[in-house]
Amino acid sequence: MFPVDKIRADFPILKREVNGKPLVYFDNAATSQTPQVVIDAIVDYYSNSNANIHRGVHTLSQEATDLYEKARLKIQKHFNAKESYEIILTSGTTASINMIASGFSDLLITGDEIIVSALEHHSNIVPWQMLCEKTGAVLKVIPMLQNGTLDIAAYDEILSDKTKLVFCNHVSNALGTINPIKEIIEKAHKVGAAVLIDGAQATPHIKPDVQELDVDFYVASAHKICGPTGVGVLYGKSAWLEKLPPYQGGGEMIETVTFEKTTYAGLPHKFEAGTPNICGGIAFGVALDYMNTIGFDAIAAYEHELLQYGTGKLQEIDGLTIYGTSDKTAVISFNIEGIHPYDIGAILDKLGVAVRTGHHCAQPIMNFYNIPGTVRASFAFYNTKKEIDVLVASVKKAAMMLG
Ligand SMILES: *Cc1c(COP(=O)(O)O)cnc(C)c1O
Repeated sequence: MFPVDKIRADFPILKREVNGKPLVYFDNAATSQTPQVVIDAIVDYYSNSNANIHRGVHTLSQEATDLYEKARLKIQKHFNAKESYEIILTSGTTASINMIASGFSDLLITGDEIIVSALEHHSNIVPWQMLCEKTGAVLKVIPMLQNGTLDIAAYDEILSDKTKLVFCNHVSNALGTINPIKEIIEKAHKVGAAVLIDGAQATPHIKPDVQELDVDFYVASAHKICGPTGVGVLYGKSAWLEKLPPYQGGGEMIETVTFEKTTYAGLPHKFEAGTPNICGGIAFGVALDYMNTIGFDAIAAYEHELLQYGTGKLQEIDGLTIYGTSDKTAVISFNIEGIHPYDIGAILDKLGVAVRTGHHCAQPIMNFYNIPGTVRASFAFYNTKKEIDVLVASVKKAAMMLG
């Protein structure tokens, strides 16, 4: 049996009340909660090891550097990157994506094509539009199907030797649907295109193996995997990272500087200008350790149980529609006929239940279904069936009050 009670005790925030009711936190797709070991690592860093890294000869600086580089190794191991210098620490998924978009602006020419999926988060659409404007490249979209999956036959048709880059999320944040990224990557490679996978929504549930996927770039945020905000990862194959120009100029990313010429530092420092989120990086490593101790297979199995339980219970409610019904992670995105999702969310909050309402930074998906948004309940491994019962009772109450 999955030790959920023991796990819940690791998360101090789960003990609190909201509006006089026990907190039921179902907004995990927006950010996950933080276990005590990660909080302790943050406190410990600032209490005992705070110093700038890579510069000082003094002991504290060496200690901080050591902790930070050990975190990089943990991240490397988690994603199964071949080399530690293929792991670039960034401020999060959005920053990682923008780094790649910026890097490609030097590599693309008019008439080149970039393919994105219709299931993208806005942070995965806007940088490519900006890149196309700058370079004259053309943006193509893999359309989606009614069940929330991608239309792979249409993908086959838009792929060509003009395609230089393909972007797709591993899991859709709005629907939770899992995309066939291995197939998408293989097909892109056949025409010589690079692939960037946005793993922000997949990494809380799935342990990706970047070598097995043969993916060129894979990005994620620590705050969705029990880590702190403001830190994330950009994995890139070393050949690509060597090829791309640095993103920002500054300290850490240079080897020598004169007013005539600056030479850049090697990987990963070439992409890590300035003082990074040292504490965040260290805490990210601790968060991955924590989740790996529980185990991603156990997490996925338990969350699947929650998903099936919640789906069954919610479907019994009159007029309720669930969007995205294919293979997915523990996300239920739904509406009740005739009721605005925001109104349901506001009543749920009064009852202590935290869900997300709105377009979830994925307006094209909402346009596809012709809806203003959805109510999104996203589960984590520290949630329980009892909490789902509270959600279902609260949704019923909201439907009665608003219907
Ligand atoms: C959350 C999320 C992002 C953005 O992540 P940040 O941490 O805000 O940079 C991007 N893509 C997907 C799929 C997400 O779920």
